[in-house]
Amino acid sequence: MTQSIKERNDVSQGDKWNVEALYPSLEAWKAEIQEVGRPENSPHWPELTAFRGRLGSSAETLKEFFMLSLETDRKLSRLYTYAHMRHDEDLAAEDYKKAHAVITTIYHEFGQELAFAEPEILSLPEEVLQAYLKADALKEYHFYLEKIVSLKPHTLSSNEEELLALAGQALSTSPSAFNAFNNADLKFPPVKDSEGNEQELTHAKYLLYMRGKDRELRKNAFQTLHRSFLGFENSICELFKGHMQHHVFTSRARKYKSCLETALFPNQIDTTVYTNLISTVRKQLPVLHRYMALRKKAMKVDKLHMYDLYVPLVEEVDLRYDYDKAESLVVESVAPLGEDYQKILHKGLKTDRWVDRYENMRKRSGAYSTGSYDSMPYILMNFQGAFHDLMTLAHEAGHSMHSYMSHKHQPYQYSHYPIFLAEVASTFNEELMFHHLKQQNLSAQEKAFLINQKVEDIRATFFRQTMFAEFELTVHTLAQDNIPLTPGLLKEFYHKLNVDYFGPDLEIDEEIDIEWARIPHFYSNFYVYQYATGISAAYALFEKVMEGGEAARTAYLNFLSSGSKDYPLDLLEQAGVNMRKEQPIESMLKHFDRLVGELSNLI
Ligand SMILES: [Zn+2]
Repeated sequence: MTQSIKERNDVSQGDKWNVEALYPSLEAWKAEIQEVGRPENSPHWPELTAFRGRLGSSAETLKEFFMLSLETDRKLSRLYTYAHMRHDEDLAAEDYKKAHAVITTIYHEFGQELAFAEPEILSLPEEVLQAYLKADALKEYHFYLEKIVSLKPHTLSSNEEELLALAGQALSTSPSAFNAFNNADLKFPPVKDSEGNEQELTHAKYLLYMRGKDRELRKNAFQTLHRSFLGFENSICELFKGHMQHHVFTSRARKYKSCLETALFPNQIDTTVYTNLISTVRKQLPVLHRYMALRKKAMKVDKLHMYDLYVPLVEEVDLRYDYDKAESLVVESVAPLGEDYQKILHKGLKTDRWVDRYENMRKRSGAYSTGSYDSMPYILMNFQGAFHDLMTLAHEAGHSMHSYMSHKHQPYQYSHYPIFLAEVASTFNEELMFHHLKQQNLSAQEKAFLINQKVEDIRATFFRQTMFAEFELTVHTLAQDNIPLTPGLLKEFYHKLNVDYFGPDLEIDEEIDIEWARIPHFYSNFYVYQYATGISAAYALFEKVMEGGEAARTAYLNFLSSGSKDYPLDLLEQAGVNMRKEQPIESMLKHFDRLVGELSNLI
């Protein structure tokens, strides 16, 4: 029996996010976009483009430019938030589809009209920049300016910069070509389940099958999916190579020491943070091997295969929650962060309607946290009552509270937290929820279920992403050293990585060697390591808050209120965790090992 899904109009008010708090109606939104975005004008913001060529004239002029451009950005982001939220409520609603398209275009044009500013600032003589950094007029924008100025050693002459900008689009073909191949062109043949029935294979279904009980189906899906990629290994390798060459080109043109440094430099993340993560995890890989041994034993299989990795070990338990219960649990779980934090979240969830709770026809799938500087935070969910949904609500509430506090305590220019920090607050709150649930009266089975979820979560977020990070670093290094990347070389290296990470109890099926060819994140630029550092930082902070009393809690709350007023590593250090050191990574590994031990005792 499938439950019928409601139309948006039939969803009761209390279950929907309070988007009317942003604009009472689409008409009000349209009136403001006329005023702020001026869709018919070109340029849209002559008062901003008029600054071209004048940013070097005085600190006051630059201040005026910053103020005006940030103010426009702030208004546009509010307009954008409303349109994308409305659009996601019903992806087919014409009015909102149009509104979303209008604001997306205007936002893009805003970026283009302001594109002159950064290169112009960077082309100013060193003494002017130094004077600006000391100027009283620019005090509120000091760090904002400092971040721009820090790029100066890697900025070229204006002619060369223009050339680079012109080449930009052509150089970015690889990711979009891979995306088109992976999501549009590539089709998998159907696969047989254990009863001989043919089942459709898609990206989404693959994950479903991998978590399912039908081992025959898992095996067939695993082999079929990877063999499909294998059939295109030469083309994919060329795309991949093109992407590496783009990074090598940028790195050399901008005079960085490596591709890794090029990617990490703008946020002043030391490359040792990256290399440290890999070397520390590598030293402790037996921790993951022990989990594989436990999994093999618990599943009672002769050989543990790659397609046995995602099956829950505790099948008998199915923890379920209705929405109100989930909400209450989330509010209870944050008690260690103090009464104020708890009160704000309670009011946000229960009274202010931050959350769009349930699925409706044509609503965007998944979950996210959004909002703007001039709005409450909002959470989109498709709550179904599973354990996973409870954790998602805890996770998104963590993001929302981070935004709420950073918006409240920072001026607009420092109100957005950087990507390196994005998953810290959300993962921290998942940890709080895990801790809270463990305190409840659970049966041994339920406890095992809970710990198994956590262990799997860490395996996927921490170990898997670190392995990806190592792959990414190695292939970039090969490309920098002009070693030709071939499918054979990549497969051989990827195979060895799997052998090292998973250890002797897992069969490294040969199909896995091509897995690198299907990972979209490899077309981002040194992105995945942040999942592993994020979860480690979150756990280290969680331990501090739980053990460290008032001072540790205050430091963490200050961190949540800091937005981007400093570089991410510095903000974390002020909160009490030094990601330049091995310690946070080591404590994550210990945590994992302890959990595997607990799980082993329970099953
Ligand atoms: Zn998140």
